[in-house]
Amino acid sequence: MSAKARLLPVSGCGRKGPACFIVEAGVLRLMLDLGYGPQPGLWPDVGGVGPVDALLLSHGHADHAGGLKLLPAIGNPPLYATDIVARGLPSPVTARPLPLSGSTGVMGLRVTTGRSGHAPGGVWLHLALGDGLLYMGDNSVESALYAHDLPPPAGTLILDASYGDYDVPLAQCQQALAESFSAPQGLLLPVPENGRGPEIALHLLRSGHPLPRIDGRIRSALQRLATSDAACLRPGVAPELSQIAEAAPASGEPGGITLASRADGTAGDAAELLARWENCETPAIVFTGYLPPGTPAERLTLSGRARYLRWNVHPRLSDNAALAKAVGARCVLPAFGDAKYLAAWQRAFAPARVVTTGPVEL
Ligand SMILES: [Zn+2]
Repeated sequence: MSAKARLLPVSGCGRKGPACFIVEAGVLRLMLDLGYGPQPGLWPDVGGVGPVDALLLSHGHADHAGGLKLLPAIGNPPLYATDIVARGLPSPVTARPLPLSGSTGVMGLRVTTGRSGHAPGGVWLHLALGDGLLYMGDNSVESALYAHDLPPPAGTLILDASYGDYDVPLAQCQQALAESFSAPQGLLLPVPENGRGPEIALHLLRSGHPLPRIDGRIRSALQRLATSDAACLRPGVAPELSQIAEAAPASGEPGGITLASRADGTAGDAAELLARWENCETPAIVFTGYLPPGTPAERLTLSGRARYLRWNVHPRLSDNAALAKAVGARCVLPAFGDAKYLAAWQRAFAPARVVTTGPVEL
């Protein structure tokens, strides 16, 4: 498409926040993601956005797809998502399909997708505008579970800068967690069932630990991944996930390793188990993901009852630098990370220009 195009970040730039971007090309207006959170109560401000022609979702996590109740404010546009993402949304939606890996037309615009290595059905989105606009959503190249496809060249790159200038390999995170995995007093890991929960379960299986105790949501997620959602997995993983889903004991007892959702402890089995065990000395509690303000995850790590040991589900700085180079980006918009890392991003992504606000001409 040759029409003049531009990118307008609505939310998700300069800090961790709900993802929402507008792309304008001539009269066409597309929205990329419409998230909520991850801090409780944090909605993107779509008041001034006006009507859009279509909403494209990168993946189903709440901070990318949790804002669908705002659809009436942007004219109730058609929703595009992969089948796996559409099936996994908390409320039933009618979505037009995006491929897991391939090309399709969205309102006359060519959109290419590939698996993003981060969540069930999650994809990066490449729009044929200018010299290419690539939106990574959330992504990871380190997952042993979720497959990751290489994106095509793109002049403008919105990358997942959630981790700022962090550059520690996942293998090192796993070493740091190894002691907790073997703790005699047991271990509770609050995790998302559609993210690193199944990944950690797979790691425990492969590293010879007893199978973790898992809650019903994680068991269902493992079963879905092993069957209907297996197209988003790395080759050969599905039978291992089936094995865990069938054989792992149920959560509820403090011994051994327990995986329970939700990751921030605000709901689900994790909330219940935290309430039961937070005033006991055991089991150990470790949070492995983002600690949203105002949640049990933040409260218990600040009080010292829980530890925080990261399990990578977003790209490291060197992964992002390699991506920017591989796609030939001349302009990089680091999304979902704190703008205090600007200098590190500029060094890492040079010679690309780094911008943290819009509009960006494509
Ligand atoms: Zn995500």
